[in-house]
Amino acid sequence: MQTGNRETAGTRAGEGAAKQVALRQVTREEWAAVPRAFPDFWLAICVWLPMVILLLVQHEQLGMLAATGDSLWDLISFSMVAFVMAVIVGSGRQAPWLGLTLTGAIAYWQFRHDGIQAMVMFALAYYVVLAVLAACSDARFRALLRSWRREATGTLAVDSQQTRSFGITKYLPPIMWNLAWGALAYPALRLVWQYCSTEVRSVADLDAGYRFDLIAALVLLAICFILSTLRWISSRAVGIFALEIPADVQIGPVGLRALGEAIHIEQETLKCSCRDAEKNGSKKEFADPRFIFASDFCPEHGIEAINQLSQSEFLQIADQPWVYGDHLTGRILNGQQLRMNVVGLTGWGSRPVAVRSPWSYGGGQLASEYYAPLAAREPLNRAKRELKVVDPADNTIVPETLDVAGAPEIDRINLHALGINAEAVRVAGARPFLA
Ligand SMILES: [Zn+2]
Repeated sequence: MQTGNRETAGTRAGEGAAKQVALRQVTREEWAAVPRAFPDFWLAICVWLPMVILLLVQHEQLGMLAATGDSLWDLISFSMVAFVMAVIVGSGRQAPWLGLTLTGAIAYWQFRHDGIQAMVMFALAYYVVLAVLAACSDARFRALLRSWRREATGTLAVDSQQTRSFGITKYLPPIMWNLAWGALAYPALRLVWQYCSTEVRSVADLDAGYRFDLIAALVLLAICFILSTLRWISSRAVGIFALEIPADVQIGPVGLRALGEAIHIEQETLKCSCRDAEKNGSKKEFADPRFIFASDFCPEHGIEAINQLSQSEFLQIADQPWVYGDHLTGRILNGQQLRMNVVGLTGWGSRPVAVRSPWSYGGGQLASEYYAPLAAREPLNRAKRELKVVDPADNTIVPETLDVAGAPEIDRINLHALGINAEAVRVAGARPFLA
């Protein structure tokens, strides 16, 4: 099935040959049995809450850090806020190491010998224990992945564009890089503005806040590079290989996202007018260039078109995410037993990508292009994990529930014939709901 699919390797000239990577099929049972790690949410709380307390206790020293020595407020600026946000959001499984480093720095500059010093020493010990525990649980998952790689029985072609997703800077959420560069741009712009508009003629004339912004930005960039590099090294130790996994958000270490309000460009027909939708005129490139916004007024994909289908016609398209638009929920996956090929799952925090293949080893049907894996992170409760639905511009869609719709119901169509444990509720003037 080497279709004209942009994702399929080697179909476009000059893109380089596809790379064959080992493929291991993971059964539902194996996927569900991936050992749980300490949830990312609690790890962040356990690292950053004590850190806030420690910093509050140390506030006198922090105040002295601010060259003006006036107050702690001198430290609060865009760059400092970006720094704090990026570190808390992006540190992931390495948060205990950052906590340990920060506490180490505090201990190094600590000059008092009283209760506070004892507290810093206690915090040091605490972060060492936390870091070791997190490292052990991460190592256990990586060992499992390595054993899966050794047991690989097939291969999968991955195109060179996709292997670029595993470059050295790709192991951090993009928001962290954006915050880091933004934190650096802010003092730089301020510097330019001050030089052009005021009497300031040297760096010494600038206020202290500027220097702290610059330091915060540089430290943040350094943290980003170190974290991303360390994660890259650790992922190379496991190796880049493919897994065929169950596409089920309620088990396993990886959540899924689905594109809602979206049409795959291969589904555009002569009749389709989705491309004319206002949202598709945006200059901003979409998260996935293979998708455009679906129009509610399209004669093929719009609300009226769907509501006029007979029940048997509706069943032919009922497993496609675009049908439900912004009413799409994880129910569409209930019972479907879909499979998905992912490449680049190399441990907690790794960001695997989906790769299409012509067939599925596991017997089930392969999930369509509308579905993709999320970064591997441990949720609070895997059984309650939701399908993340985003639109082509990457905005999260929060579906409204059927009760608040208020529109008259047309019919209810049981989707059991498609293997989906749900029914579609068609309503007048709106997209169908999944119930
Ligand atoms: Zn259309």
